[in-house]
Amino acid sequence: MNKPAFSVCVYCGSRNGALPAYADVAQKVGTWIGQHSGQLVYGGGNNGLMGLVAQATADAGGRVVGIIPKALQTQENTRTACTELHVVDTMHERKRMMAERADVFLALPGGIGTFEEFFEVWTWRQLGYHDKPIGLLNTQGYYDGLLQFASHSVAQGFLNDWQMDLIRSGTEPKTLLQELVQAAGFAPAPKLAAL
Ligand code: AMP
Repeated sequence: MNKPAFSVCVYCGSRNGALPAYADVAQKVGTWIGQHSGQLVYGGGNNGLMGLVAQATADAGGRVVGIIPKALQTQENTRTACTELHVVDTMHERKRMMAERADVFLALPGGIGTFEEFFEVWTWRQLGYHDKPIGLLNTQGYYDGLLQFASHSVAQGFLNDWQMDLIRSGTEPKTLLQELVQAAGFAPAPKLAAL
């Protein structure tokens, strides 16, 4: 496998969620990454949307980097088939390594683990700890409530517009991925086989 063109760190649910659209979008994200010679960086598990995005990336010929804490290996059902699998000592180490290996971040529908990771890279960005693009995939309006709450926070003076501008939300995985990867300075091109 050749050197990847870019790395997308995906945060998403360790469950599938209630709608088939969530699994569908996870597969589309993985397929897009693989078809554009990209690399997925993710939590290293086989459960839920996490497992689906990894499998779709691999099926489309992309590299899969999984980073999982030792203590979560059983619970999260480690994907031993990762191109690169890192078993680390702590959750902090996992999140640091995922962030370091990423060119862009993308959150898909998920639960508190996903929220926490998304908010962490958003807060790190506002503090200037990194300048990598951050996306929120709002499949079936899953994150409408969160975005409305953020607008409420702006209206109430706890958040500024420039902080809102640090994240991009979208509903179409291909469009959002293209925008994020381009914003990180790459020109993603589909492999010939994907045309
Ligand atoms: P969830 O969105 O809750 O299904 O979790 C998705 C992933 O986020 C899982 O791999 C969790 O291990 C991970 N995660 C990362 N940070 C945390 C945290 N502080 N608490 C819970 N889960 C976390």
